[in-house]
Amino acid sequence: MRPAWDFLVVGAGPAGSWIAERFAKRGADVLLFDPKAPWEKPCGGGLTAAALRHTPELLELEDESTEIEELLVVAPGGASVVIPLRKPYRVVSRLTLSGWGLERAQAAGVRLLRRAVRSAHFDHACWQVTDSSGVAHRGRWLVCADGATSPLRRQLAPDLRPELAPTRVMYPSSGAPPGRAVFLFLPAAKGYLWDFPRPGHHSTGIGVAPGTFAKGDLDGAVLQYSLAEGGDNGSAAAPRGAVIATSAWKSGRFSDLAGSNYVILGDAAGLANPATGEGIDYAFRSATLAADVFHEATGFKGFPRAARKTFAAEMRRARLVRRWLYRPGFADWLITRSRHSPRAALLLMSLSDAINEHGSLVSAFARALFAGPPDLQTAQTVCQCPDGVEGVAPAEELDVAAITGRSALH
Ligand SMILES: Cc1cc2nc3c(=O)[nH]c(=O)nc-3n(C[C@H](O)[C@H](O)[C@H](O)COP(=O)(O)OP(=O)(O)OC[C@H]3O[C@@H](n4cnc5c(N)ncnc54)[C@H](O)[C@@H]3O)c2cc1C
Repeated sequence: MRPAWDFLVVGAGPAGSWIAERFAKRGADVLLFDPKAPWEKPCGGGLTAAALRHTPELLELEDESTEIEELLVVAPGGASVVIPLRKPYRVVSRLTLSGWGLERAQAAGVRLLRRAVRSAHFDHACWQVTDSSGVAHRGRWLVCADGATSPLRRQLAPDLRPELAPTRVMYPSSGAPPGRAVFLFLPAAKGYLWDFPRPGHHSTGIGVAPGTFAKGDLDGAVLQYSLAEGGDNGSAAAPRGAVIATSAWKSGRFSDLAGSNYVILGDAAGLANPATGEGIDYAFRSATLAADVFHEATGFKGFPRAARKTFAAEMRRARLVRRWLYRPGFADWLITRSRHSPRAALLLMSLSDAINEHGSLVSAFARALFAGPPDLQTAQTVCQCPDGVEGVAPAEELDVAAITGRSALH
């Protein structure tokens, strides 16, 4: 029997909608499954400078996102400093991002089916996918982009086991001032709390290494932070949970990410950054890469090699950053020193810029060591105004220990 569709795409997150649009634009018949989209997926919604560079179309969301120009970084011991970013990043609600991606895909001719995929199997030279209503759909190629807990990944690539990092997130009405994001490192150095201002609300959440904190303690920390920031927690829903599938894989290899007639993308492929939790850029890039690979050779066989070439070095760097960033005492030392030493402030600035821009760590250290006058001048300003030029440093009123201090299980 002839397949009705060229592509069956499971999941309309950034990865799924993006690849669906790429194929439809080339004239393919694409069926996209998602029971919820568009929706407010639990997320910070941070689009790093690297994400904006790799996928410039995201700048279409300029009016519906906020710009972050500086970071308030708070050490586990409570010391804090405000540092400027060399390049801004943006924050968008996931409902907006999801709606934007879907609209583009549908405008290109993609058909959206608001149902979950229950099973998929390959038979008679095509994929047969059964949806939540029990209806079967046949397609030549399958794209698995159903997110961090992907049941399809377990079927297609049973050996691939990304690390699943827990998070809790809520959306209060107030928090950090416009233009500023907050990163508060946790004691026991196992993660951080964030506050990202979005248009009309904030994403405030906490992400940690698996097995380090109890859920109740994480919720307590997010609520405490939000209350300290004047958050209207009565109207904000209680924290919700979700996991991030990071590239600190427990097992698996790039060759697990595709066969000639299927490909696994984004969080389903476990591509998020294990140091920061950033995954939107990897979702878009893996989708772009898979579409390019497909059009070169009419199949996904070349995807593992291309993905290794594109992502392996970044994945290694992210694991290195995580080891350093969360080394006991490192964040306390660097942030405390940054209030007084321009060289330390510059190191903190260069590391933050390297993370935001996906730059090399060697260049970040070199910049801190051999800085030119403009960088040194900025670092000097950081030391003179460690609470930011506006002097708005909510961390001084925050009892960091009360928020996070007694939460560590280890
Ligand atoms: C709390 C939190 C904060 C984060 N903050 C950031 C951040 O600030 N910046 C950043 O870059 N990254 C962040 N991330 C990571 C980011 O959310 C993900 O990396 C990104 O969404 C991955 O995109 P994706 O398209 O692969 O998957 P998703 O966005 O998860 O999309 C998967 C889609 O598949 C659908 N789906 C699931 N099962 C099925 C099924 N059976 N059938 C059909 N459809 C299905 C879902 O409804 C969903 O729409 C955060 C993650 C979390 C949990």
